[in-house]
Amino acid sequence: MKIAVLPGDGIGPEIVAEAVKVLQVLDLPLELESAPVGGAAFEAAGHPLPDATLALAKASDAILFGAVGDWKYDTLDRPLRPEQAILGLRKHLGLFANFRPAICYEQLVGASSLKPELISGLDILIIRELTGDIYFGQPRGRRTAADGHFPGAEEAFDTMRYSRPEIERIAHVAFQAARKRSKRVTSVDKANVLETFQFWKDVVTEVGREYPDVELDHMYVDNAAMQLVKAPKRFDVVVTGNMFGDILSDEASMLTGSIGMLPSASLNDRNQGLYEPSHGSAPDIAGKGVANPLATILSAAMMLRFSLQQPEAADRIESAVQAVLAQGLRTADIHSEGTTRVGTRAMGDAVVAALSSSKTKATIKG
Ligand code: NAD
Repeated sequence: MKIAVLPGDGIGPEIVAEAVKVLQVLDLPLELESAPVGGAAFEAAGHPLPDATLALAKASDAILFGAVGDWKYDTLDRPLRPEQAILGLRKHLGLFANFRPAICYEQLVGASSLKPELISGLDILIIRELTGDIYFGQPRGRRTAADGHFPGAEEAFDTMRYSRPEIERIAHVAFQAARKRSKRVTSVDKANVLETFQFWKDVVTEVGREYPDVELDHMYVDNAAMQLVKAPKRFDVVVTGNMFGDILSDEASMLTGSIGMLPSASLNDRNQGLYEPSHGSAPDIAGKGVANPLATILSAAMMLRFSLQQPEAADRIESAVQAVLAQGLRTADIHSEGTTRVGTRAMGDAVVAALSSSKTKATIKG
């Protein structure tokens, strides 16, 4: 089981180090190899996704990714900016299915800006199509307007498009995921205004007929944004396009209080995946040893479950995270009165200790 470890920039190296520590105590035959990505790779090799890093990613079963980006790179030409590394990896590996769970841990109910009764027990899964839509559609660019409200004026344009196979494959992913949960899928679109999303709705409906045991409903994206804060527990699996998914998954992640807790997975059709925390590189706290490593540790758990077929090891990590939260340990982003504030490394150590004690218990029991 080969894992490419790409720490990246900002807090990336600090949080990935903790996830690696956790993976190393699992007693699994994991081969980990690191490479630079993002701004770190630009500094080292003049490109955010050097050929050697891409080759390592392609040759691995899974990628454990930290985060990329820093304000200091904002003046670089777009193709050299750190964020291009993540877009490049998605494109080259065909990572079309993005899984973003939003789970509210009981011990952190108070960290949410919503009322406890709205989010207690929350467990939703947003599945975002990741390689199509207006983010990649051609043509795009700037030109002089030939028509519209201001003919002759300078204008910019992008193209929203989805092909039938692109919609079908993400719909299958969503229905199959729902089968392992509470068998409900909400497909989010803007079919009332956009041709692309009327087509999306039609194709998802067709695919849904192959899953008669899964309940499908459709919702316009503006309503979905509202329902996510009004009654988030009404959702189970949400499937949507690239742009709507980008926005809704960030909204959903904040329901749970801290973005520092939320993992994500991006998979291709061979189950090869890129696993990363939902947050960015947090340059404001980089190097201070205060970042929350739990989203990255939970991303490693998703990696074991989805790409490496080690569901028991994934369960063990998730239980260890629950255990450290139950012990009252908190990084600054989730700290509240009556809990113990710890740094990045101490939080990683606590998860390792919880894992080791769960193993000892299992051994004694066995
Ligand atoms: P961000 O997610 O990095 O930070 C937003 C806020 O959340 C900051 O206050 C930060 O300190 C805090 N935060 C984030 N992760 C945390 C953690 N693990 N523990 C504690 N606090 C945490 O978003 P941003 O500030 O908008 O972007 C910073 C940089 O990250 C930019 O260069 C952006 O392009 C990049 N970015 C990268 C990715 C990625 O690598 N996939 C995703 C989003 C943003």
